[in-house]
Amino acid sequence: MKCPFCNGADTQVIDSRVSEQGDSIRRRRKCAACGKRFTTYETAELRMPQVVKGDGSRADFDEAKLRTGFQRALHKRPVPTEFVDAAIGRIVQALLARGEREVSSREIGEMVMQELYKLDKVAYIRFASVYRSFSDVSDFRDALAEVEQPGKRARKLPAQ
Ligand SMILES: [Zn+2]
Repeated sequence: MKCPFCNGADTQVIDSRVSEQGDSIRRRRKCAACGKRFTTYETAELRMPQVVKGDGSRADFDEAKLRTGFQRALHKRPVPTEFVDAAIGRIVQALLARGEREVSSREIGEMVMQELYKLDKVAYIRFASVYRSFSDVSDFRDALAEVEQPGKRARKLPAQ
């Protein structure tokens, strides 16, 4: 870290402490060249990534939109709202934990599919049929058959 007074490259940490809330670290530094002291703060950057759509445009992550996607897929399905809340929470946490500035809408779609797969197979197929472009009609039929007769076809879902 450069000295803000003389631009010297050699500064030393002389004291370091965690804030009372535990969410930042305060460091006292001393410049080896001019001897002046200054303070820096280190905090975790938790920011939702920008969503990159199929056409390359960017948009802010929209949790309400995510919820609408779940609600549409789960329309009239016997799934408690708290399960949906938990699923959305897991997706938000996973996106934050990646720490990346961008995520493709396709990746979010895959995360939604994984959650729906666990919540309700019919909702999963509803969502998948819209979201994932099945390479041909037979792929879609296979996916439907899988829901109606579990175990008939090998799972293609990525590991959790
Ligand atoms: Zn200095």
